[in-house]
Amino acid sequence: MADRYFTETPIQDRRAVLSGPEAHHLIHVIRAKPGMEVTLFDGSGAEFPARVERIGRSEVELAVLERREVDRELHRQIVLATALPKGDRQRWLIEKAVELGISRIVPLQTERSVALPVPRAMDRLRRTVIEASKQCGRNRLMEIAQPQKWFDFVEQTREVPAFRMVAHPHGTDQELGEPGPSVPVFLAVGPEGGFTDEEVSRAVAAGWQLVDLGPRILRVETAAVVLAAKVPD
Ligand code: SAH
Repeated sequence: MADRYFTETPIQDRRAVLSGPEAHHLIHVIRAKPGMEVTLFDGSGAEFPARVERIGRSEVELAVLERREVDRELHRQIVLATALPKGDRQRWLIEKAVELGISRIVPLQTERSVALPVPRAMDRLRRTVIEASKQCGRNRLMEIAQPQKWFDFVEQTREVPAFRMVAHPHGTDQELGEPGPSVPVFLAVGPEGGFTDEEVSRAVAAGWQLVDLGPRILRVETAAVVLAAKVPD
């Protein structure tokens, strides 16, 4: 899955231009030469074998050789609403979420969570999505939605047909059902301080099932990965 490069500009003809960090990587890290073949993707779901034609100071021009529809997505949509951890652990969470095929992350503001990501941090997270997609072969980018209050998210998604699971320690020992094929799944993970009782009870009233992930308390990012891994494709 090496040598994949992302272009913001949708690929529509036989020529593509890489700029920004993607061009920087090709020019200065890989030291690409004209003739080298790479794979491009533009987030549309396809990938494009391409050949380096010209190397500029900060741009690389490529000839697009082919368009291939290569689907590495899950068969269902998974939306993960989560309080974000800090720093490196946040990046780790985004990377794993991309690898697991999650379609959208909704950063949550909860009663006990700390600050929400500022716009610059959101940009960095989007860059992490691109890096992870290059590595794991996803041709669609996981969306990072605008941060939302947990109560608002619960209300706004109330009518959307979906299977809903919220991770909560000592949540329940009730049997969870399984989402039917291609039914969207909504997952939620709380902040280090946990969801408050009211946050949990309002979610339950809106049709969320509580999921206990075992007797040890997991970090937010671990809980998110374990929860997502429980969803059948
Ligand atoms: N002190 C908090 C723990 C928060 S851990 C509390 O007791 O609620 C951060 C989040 O990760 C939790 O809100 C929950 O969504 C998830 N989580 C961590 N460990 C879990 C477990 N064993 N079972 C279910 N969810 C868990």
